[in-house]
Order: sequence, then structure tokens, then C-alpha cells
Amino acid sequence: MTQNARNASTTIPDVVVIGAGIVGLACAWSALRDGASVTVIDRDFEGDRTSHGNAGGIAVTESTPIAVNGLYTKALKWLFDPLGPLSLDWKHLPTAWPWFNAFRRSANQQRFREISLALASLNNRVYDDLVPMFEDIGAMDRFYRRGALTVYETDEAFAADQHEWAFKRELGVRWHALSADEIRAYEPSLAPVFRHGVFLDDWSHIGDPKGLVTQLRARVMQLGATLIEGAVTALDLSDTLAPAAVTGTGERVKGRRVVVATGAWSASLAASIGDRVLLDSERGYNTTLPAHGIALSREVIFAERKFVATPLDIGLRIGGAAEFAGLAAPPNYRRSDALLALGKRFLPDINDAGAVKWMGHRPATPDSLPVIGCSPRTSAVIYAFGHGHLGLTQAATTGALVADLLAGRTSGIDLEPYSISRFRN
Ligand SMILES: Cc1cc2nc3c(=O)[nH]c(=O)nc-3n(C[C@H](O)[C@H](O)[C@H](O)COP(=O)(O)OP(=O)(O)OC[C@H]3O[C@@H](n4cnc5c(N)ncnc54)[C@H](O)[C@@H]3O)c2cc1C
Repeated sequence: MTQNARNASTTIPDVVVIGAGIVGLACAWSALRDGASVTVIDRDFEGDRTSHGNAGGIAVTESTPIAVNGLYTKALKWLFDPLGPLSLDWKHLPTAWPWFNAFRRSANQQRFREISLALASLNNRVYDDLVPMFEDIGAMDRFYRRGALTVYETDEAFAADQHEWAFKRELGVRWHALSADEIRAYEPSLAPVFRHGVFLDDWSHIGDPKGLVTQLRARVMQLGATLIEGAVTALDLSDTLAPAAVTGTGERVKGRRVVVATGAWSASLAASIGDRVLLDSERGYNTTLPAHGIALSREVIFAERKFVATPLDIGLRIGGAAEFAGLAAPPNYRRSDALLALGKRFLPDINDAGAVKWMGHRPATPDSLPVIGCSPRTSAVIYAFGHGHLGLTQAATTGALVADLLAGRTSGIDLEPYSISRFRN
């Protein structure tokens, strides 16, 4: 399929963006707004991808890495619970071993702090980038700035997280603690089992993640982008003035600059020009309940059980889980079922008629930082992937930073922490 009258001329576009998930489309949108000519390639524009099924949270408060001190011990316990929040397909372990090793190193106190500051630099400017994009594409009426609620069943878990909450406040995150009664007043549909809550003022959510991708793609086309369907197998730098994306059919799509935004599938494209990255799929699951029948105003994060419930316009979405099994293994929907069972326990009145199950590939780096920046080999190739749990949240900001690189502007933040060079050895 080719859309927008496939390159009306044979001229080489300013930018070729590979990948039309939320991140690639945000890069294309920002470049188009700067007046660049843009071609977007995806192997399947309509097909399912991570950006279609996520929880819809603009989770700007998540400015600490997933790897925290002591997580390894907890993780080992979870691994022996077949439907717990974390699982590993042991066949995938040899491939994932370097990733896990690097993950463990990210929990080191100094590295933890550096990563958090780098995440906060992105998250603290999210709304400055996201709101103009939502306004331009007409997405403001499905954008809910109502905060989010983290809830705790036990005093111990709440106490254990105090250090992290205090640190988040230092990073600029606004939050306040809620009593059991206040939790009930905020969200009466929750079972009365939560002893502590944390209200996150700046978290927000959208109404329909797939709808957002469709809207952004339509706007990118309206702004003049050419869309080409094709599976890119490698990058080719032989023409120093115009690198090419080479597709499985041998077609070479050239651009003055190429942006790699292929989510969890990006490592092989970086490797094709000699750039190493540690990237794995952190597979997540959810179930969407179109006829849920309860009133929930905002996203709820269940702290001990590591899952969330978001009141999307298209239904209540209950999801979470981190499964390491690679890109090719079939989904294990028993995980969606397990999450739904938890959802029913804590939101007892939900109706699960018409439930839809889903699995997606979070593009996960071991340090929880995305890869944003030029290839060390050539400034003609720009990376924009690896956003893990925060791809929707950070998409517009990533697009703005990539547009700065394309235009040769100095961006407001230091891009060094996101460089692919950090994976050199
Ligand atoms: C269960 C779950 C819940 C989540 N909840 C949230 C949330 O609440 N908030 C949040 O911010 N984030 C959330 N995320 C994470 C977020 O969804 C991802 O970080 C984000 O969607 C990644 O976007 P992307 O554009 O990088 O990748 P994708 O959406 O995966 O897009 C990559 C695109 O590249 C294309 N592609 C891949 N390889 C090739 C190739 N070789 N050639 C051509 N095209 C190719 C694919 O077809 C796809 O269209 C969640 C993820 C999961 C799994």
C-alpha cells in the first residue's frame, strides 16, 4: 500500500521515518511542522502495535527507573509465581542475559539518581510538547487531566515506598497522601481495602490510544507526508548524502536523514550500521471491558499488585505485567485473565461482558531511558525508540527533540543521557 500519491516526484525527502507507532508519528509531525518533507515507512500501518493497546496514561510522574535497589530479590520471588507481575521464558534467558546484567547495574545508587534526573528532564516538559500536538490534531476532547491515584493495601508497602515518593518530590513530582476515607471519596468504586493512597496531580490519561494513533497519522498525511508500506530490514549508508532504508523486497527508500522509530524492533536496524543497543521486549497484557458499568474518574495504580485500571472512552482497561519472552513467542493470555481477576477483586462491581484481551511489546532498555539522538557513525541517522513504559507519555517530547536535531537547533535539554553510545560495551 502506498498513500499520499507515493512520492509524486522522485526527489529525496528531507526525512524518512521508519515506524508509525506513536513515537515515529510524533517525530514525523514535528518535522512536518518545521517545514520538512517527510516519508513514513511501516510494515503495517493499520496492524496492531504497542501504541494501539497501551493503558493510555500520561505518566509524567514516573521519573525513577524500573530497576530499584532490592527489586532483584523481589523479582526472584515473582518469577516463581506463574501468573505474577513478572515472568521469564527461560528459553529467552541466554539472549536476555546481557540486558538483565545491565538492568541490575542500573539500580546502583548513583546510576539510579542520574537516570532519574534524565527521566525527569523529559517528563517535566511533556505537557509543553503534548498539548500543542493534541490541539493541532484535535485530540483535546479525549484528554483527561484528572490526576491518578496510587493505592496501597498494607502499611508496610506504603512505608517501604516513602523514600521513593520523597525523591520524586525532589524531582518535581507533585503528590499528596490520602487516607482510606479519602480514597473512597475520590473513587467509590474501589473495594474498601486500601489503607493508603497517593494522589498524583500531574498524571493524566487519554480516551483511546489506538484512536490517537489514527488521528495523528491522518494529520501527518494531511500535512503532506508520504506513507510507504514495507518491512525495513537494514539501513544503508553507502550514499553519504542520502542514507537508505532497505526493505525486504530490496527497495531502497532514501532520505537526507533517517529516523529509526521501530519500537521494540529497533535493535536489528541499529545493528545493521554497527550501533549496539540493549533492547528487549517487556511484554505487557491487558483486558478492555467496554460495558464495565462502574464510575472511575481517573487511572488507578495498584501498588503492591503492579497493575493499573484506566477509564478509557472505549472501556475500562485493566493491565500490567512484565513478561520477557522475546518478540516471537505467542501471547499467554492467562496473564490478561489473571489481571482481570485482580481487577474484579478490587473493583467488585465491574461487568466483563465483551472483554477484549491484548498483548504488546514495550521497547525496554535496561536503564529505563529511551534512545534519542544521532548515531555515533553519522548524524544522518537519528534514533527514537526504547521508551519502555512511557512511550505514549514521551512521544511528543521525543518528536520535538528529534525535530531540533533535524533542524540543527539546540534543544532545551542535554541529550547525552539518551545516546545509543551508552551501550558501546
Ligand atoms: C500493557 C502496556 C501498557 C502501557 N501503558 C502505557 C501508558 O499508560 N503510558 C505510556 O506512556 N506508555 C505505555 N506503554 C508503553 C507504550 O505503549 C510504548 O512505549 C509505545 O507504544 C512505543 O511506541 P513506539 O512508537 O516506539 O513503538 P510501536 O508502537 O511498537 O511502533 C513501532 C512501529 O514500527 C513498526 N515496525 C517495526 N519494525 C519495523 C520494520 N522492520 N520495518 C517497518 N516497520 C517496522 C511497527 O509495525 C510499528 O508500527 C504501555 C505498553 C504496554 C505493553
